[in-house]
Amino acid sequence: MKTQFYKTVKWLEPFFQKAKGLVPLHKVHIVKGFVIPLGKIECIDGQMTKYEGGKIVITLRTHNQIQRANQNGTNTSYIHKRRMICDILLTFAHELAHLKEWEHTPEHWELECKIIRRFISELKRRDIKDVTTRRIVEYREESK
Ligand SMILES: [Zn+2]
Repeated sequence: MKTQFYKTVKWLEPFFQKAKGLVPLHKVHIVKGFVIPLGKIECIDGQMTKYEGGKIVITLRTHNQIQRANQNGTNTSYIHKRRMICDILLTFAHELAHLKEWEHTPEHWELECKIIRRFISELKRRDIKDVTTRRIVEYREESK
């Protein structure tokens, strides 16, 4: 079954494909994006959930919260701001490494680093010069 990507994380699909051979990608059913409701404490960047029957879902936080003070500084409000692509890619690599190394061992970290290297080569291939950018051009199927 082909892995489904939610619209907000669709741009990660070509990066996902780059991890082929390092981790069993076929196990991932869905990659979802999520945002933490405004004003709630952010405590999670991403998660891998295993469901009964072996279904695996990866969820990735797509936005940070920025605190904004009003003009006289008495009240603050929050707004959502996209996370930098390098942060989302790091989280994604971390979660993908769990496909093979479930515990947070040095081996897990090593695998995570290998995935990150593949991600870097994809960024270079696509000539993305700024990894702190918050939006990546939608992936288009390239003819080979
Ligand atoms: Zn983890």
